Amino acid sequence: MGAIVIIGGGITGSAAADALARDGHAVTLLDKGGIAAMASGRTLGGVRQSGRHPAELPLASAAVALWGGLHERLGVDVHYRRGGNLRLARTPEEVGIIRAIVDGQRARGLDLDFLSDNRAVREVAPALSENVLAAGYCATDGHADPVRTTHAFADSARRHGAIVSEGVGALSIEVTAARVTGVVTTAGRIPAERVILAAGIESPALLRPLGLDLPLSIEVVAVVQSEPLPATLDQVLGVANADCAVRQEVGGRLRFTNGGSTDGTRPEPSATEVRDLVARVAHVLPIAGHANVSRTWTGLVDLTPDALPVIDAPASVGGLVVAAGFSGHGFCLGPISGLLCADLAIGRTPRHDLAAFRLARFQAGSIATGRPELHG
Ligand SMILES: Cc1cc2nc3c(=O)[nH]c(=O)nc-3n(C[C@H](O)[C@H](O)[C@H](O)COP(=O)(O)OP(=O)(O)OC[C@H]3O[C@@H](n4cnc5c(N)ncnc54)[C@H](O)[C@@H]3O)c2cc1C
Repeated sequence: MGAIVIIGGGITGSAAADALARDGHAVTLLDKGGIAAMASGRTLGGVRQSGRHPAELPLASAAVALWGGLHERLGVDVHYRRGGNLRLARTPEEVGIIRAIVDGQRARGLDLDFLSDNRAVREVAPALSENVLAAGYCATDGHADPVRTTHAFADSARRHGAIVSEGVGALSIEVTAARVTGVVTTAGRIPAERVILAAGIESPALLRPLGLDLPLSIEVVAVVQSEPLPATLDQVLGVANADCAVRQEVGGRLRFTNGGSTDGTRPEPSATEVRDLVARVAHVLPIAGHANVSRTWTGLVDLTPDALPVIDAPASVGGLVVAAGFSGHGFCLGPISGLLCADLAIGRTPRHDLAAFRLARFQAGSIATGRPELHG
């Protein structure tokens, strides 16, 4: 098989490069900004099955199984910790919401518990406040270091023979007689028989000239990272309405995110956003209110109309694979998304049913609308 070019060195493209390079394929991974330059370097880093859309749950469960072996596979401690995920209720109304989520997910086979009062929740996470009334608890969820993980995939791909070109942007995907033939880049043309497009929010611009429409809206999420604190929290915390999420990194820093807004992109959250976010997190995790803020940044979410990703090889352009629109929950999926991209790129039957993730669903005009869930 001829050369494969992957556009985008986030977790999706880097994991795909690793999978294909290990199988002996000639792979070039391009990123215009550098590995983990966009969402994969700015994410909360939650690795969860709970709170997933039914179509995504099998992928999330497969990903969680893969996460357990990443240290060994990649030869790097990616700081993956399977400490569980707690989704908190702060009001009586939220108790009902959490109860319904837990019931729905248990019915689909996910092993999670409903912790029905504050005492039960604080037995699992003693650092939480009295403001927490109940929680859903999935013990097999967890978190990992996003930058370490994404670089570990790209470095492993390189060790297995991939070319990794940072600072090289794709300008267009070349198509001749309805098949990809190459990628035109800021460093010249690269011939390719297959192209995997995993360029996050920039994917639609490369698809449009090929007559393919990927409708994305962009959400801006504020992220706060504290100075290191003593070990306090094993779980990733989310809340019923997704207006904040928090985890403690392996080095002790708290990292927390807000619920996002579509109110224009900006590199830094405003002082008000940071203050509101700290207050919201401190309401459930009091130590957050006493922690010094070390860094703040924003991350951009590539939100599709139904909040599900596209993982597909569109029939109209032979050799093209699209993996984008992860809608705020693609970090967890990275290890399995990479393998699925590899399956599609080499024409192997995908190891999971991808019917829900076809690009053509947006052309069909029958999609439900969804919200991204940043529960970790
Ligand atoms: C603040 C925040 C919190 C989040 N929390 C979670 C969470 O807790 N759990 C979870 O699972 N997910 C979470 N997500 C979502 C998750 O981070 C993303 O879904 C995931 O990282 C997407 O990875 P990706 O590789 O598809 O895209 P990206 O990481 O965006 O990578 C795309 C890459 O393509 C490159 N690129 C773009 N255009 C070009 C071009 N023309 N040529 C070459 N390269 C190009 C970019 O530089 C970028 O590096 C969160 C996201 C944000 C922003």
